[in-house]
Order: sequence, then structure tokens, then C-alpha cells
Amino acid sequence: MPGFELFGDAERQELQDVLDNGVLMRYGFDGMRKGHWKAKTLEEALQATMNVKHAQLVSSGTVAVTVALAAAGIGAGDEVIMPTFTFVASFEAIMMLGAIPILVDVDDTLTIDPKAVEAAISSKTKAIMPVHMCGSMANLDALQTICKEHDLLLIEDSSQATGATYNGKPLGSIGDIGCLSLDFVKIITAGEGGAVLTNNDKYHINADNYSDHGHDHIGQDRGAETHPIMGYNFRISELHAAVGLAQLRRLDEFVAIQNKNYSIIRGALSQIPEVTFRKVPEGGVESYSFLSFFLPDLETSRKVIQVFKENGIDACWNYYDNNWHYIRKWNHLKELKTLYPLSAEVKAGLKYLETRTFEQSDHYIGRNISCLIKLSWTEEDVIERSKKMVKSITSVLK
Ligand SMILES: *Cc1c(COP(=O)(O)O)cnc(C)c1O
Repeated sequence: MPGFELFGDAERQELQDVLDNGVLMRYGFDGMRKGHWKAKTLEEALQATMNVKHAQLVSSGTVAVTVALAAAGIGAGDEVIMPTFTFVASFEAIMMLGAIPILVDVDDTLTIDPKAVEAAISSKTKAIMPVHMCGSMANLDALQTICKEHDLLLIEDSSQATGATYNGKPLGSIGDIGCLSLDFVKIITAGEGGAVLTNNDKYHINADNYSDHGHDHIGQDRGAETHPIMGYNFRISELHAAVGLAQLRRLDEFVAIQNKNYSIIRGALSQIPEVTFRKVPEGGVESYSFLSFFLPDLETSRKVIQVFKENGIDACWNYYDNNWHYIRKWNHLKELKTLYPLSAEVKAGLKYLETRTFEQSDHYIGRNISCLIKLSWTEEDVIERSKKMVKSITSVLK
């Protein structure tokens, strides 16, 4: 997945443009920049690539989720339904705004289960936030139906699925707001960065103002801009945007490389009857950043990961014991370890985490192995790797 595997002259040239004129700030300094607007140009390119009316760049994917929620007016005491399998950023972003993350099970798509979502809706629910983990998506048709029925917002975290599509539309362009990450390990990277995508004019203006201290960005003179709202500094720099711009132009190329490598490995693993693959909802096309499959049980998955390591197969994970991505090890969340006091409402809202178990998630995450698909492999590397993977799995199964 990581775009950093293929940095080249294009990234260097875009960066050089910024260094040559010395304007590292994305707003203002019009005279000095000799026509170079990297963040603005990347936003326009994202709008075209992702087929959305507006793209607002921000300083990270985590910030993109925070800004998206804030732009939609989500705050104190509001509940946001999110999956148990994601990245810690999902609950961090929700809690930043004084809102309450309501965690629900994932299903065989490895993303949020629409049935679990329905069961979790309360009078405080404001939004559903599917997270398109490991290059594939939640059942967005089912989630959109639930959102319409209960008057909820759909906010897509597509940080790990840039380049994937659903019913022909790019992931991140389907909900009311979509979020992308451009961090150092994502399919296209800016080093650090994120984007808020929407077709809603009001949400876009909110995201634009909120991410730059509430500046309205109307007119030429930054000093004369007014502050319709209170905001924060969540800006991206021109240096980051420059790298992101060069990388975005290569998105199709990256997805094609991943598809080729993924298909070879999947073809090899398909010969093992005990291996089944993650479900991709009808109408979905993965970004092929990961190949995710299931083994018969947790024990087998753990052993296979061990044997993979012994045989030099890196970048494959069973997320059951992972403390970044799965609920089981999020003790800092369950024990409410914050630097600052939480409101009584948030504390009460999170009390369910002390006792709630997630058997369905454990069932799927326990049996799952997800392998990163790299861009830098040669065809021989991939074939060699496939053979070693088949041999490793078969040796554990017998
Ligand atoms: C990477 C990631 C984020 C956050 O992105 P950063 O840019 O690292 O802040 C959010 N959600 C998911 C699912 C991610 O993988």
C-alpha cells in the first residue's frame, strides 16, 4: 500500500517548487509564490479524482474525522456509531468534540455490521461512521437506508481505502462527508495530511473555516478576513501538499500494481479449501491494499502468523491482539485514561465499555489474517511469496 515505496522525480519537483519560492503556508503570500498553490491544486485534483464538489485538506486523517464531525455540527453528548475494528483515531476524533463513540460489531466484510448499527441507535445518535478497513468497504447501501430512516448522517472514514469504489463511486464520496488520510503509510502519502470530502456547501465552508482558526477566506487580504466561528489550526503545509499532489497523480498506477500483486496471491491461496476470503459487498471494488482472508479459528491464525514470520513473510497481521486497531486491547479507552477531566455525560456514555463484549467481532477478527500488498515487489517476489504462504498455511493445517 504505501506510496512512499515509489517516490520519484515528480515528488522531488513539486517539493522543489515550494522551496524555490519559500512559501510553506497554504494561504496568502500571493506575490511571493510565483503561481504555486500546492494545497489548493491538490484540493482541485482530489475533487476531480474523488468526484466530489469540495475537498478540504487538513493536517492529518485523524483531524479530517474531527473536522468532518464538527462541520456537521456533532458535539457534546452526541453519539456516533463506529466499528470495533478500526484505528484508535476513530474514537479519538469523536471524543475530541465531547461526543460519545458507540462501538458496534463488524461482520465478514471486516467493517461495521448494519444489523449491529440498527441495534445501537438511540435518541442521542447523530451519525454512523463506517471505516473502510484494509482497502474494502462496508455495505453502504444498507447503511444509507438506515441513515434515511433514522435521520442520521453517514460519515465515511476512507483512510485505508483511497482508490476503492462502490457502485462505481469512489469511497469517501458516498456519505454526507468522507475522510481520507495522507499519512506516511497510506496508499498515497503527503507525509502527514488528510482531506474532508463533501458535496454539501455548508459542510465545506464549515470545514474550511474550522481548520484555520475560523478564518472566512473571503478576499485577498488575510489580515482583513473575519471569523464567523471559533476554529483551530488544522492546516496542511505546502510542503506536505506538494508531495501529496505528485502522489495523487499516481493513484491509478498504484491501484493497478496492487491489483496485479493481490490477484496472484489470492489465486494461490484459493487452492486451500480451509481459506475463505473477506466478503466484499455487492457493487464494491477493493483498492487491493491488503489481501484479507479467514482461517478456521483463532488458534490456526496465530500459528500461521508465527510460521509466516519464520519463513520471512512480513506485513501480515492477525488483529485480534493488536492494540492500535481492535477493541480488545483498548484499555486506555475502557479505563478513560485522559489527561483532562471528561464531562459526566461522556463518562456515563462510555460506561457500557466496562462490560460489553463483542463476540461477533472476536469471531471474525480472531480468524482473520490481513496481508499488506506492496508496490515495490517484482513479479518474481510475488510468486515466491505466494508459494511460501501456501506452504506455511498448509503446514499449520495438517
Ligand atoms: C490512518 C488512519 C486514520 C488517521 O490517519 P492519520 O493521517 O494517521 O491521522 C484514521 N482512520 C483509519 C482507519 C486509518 O487507517
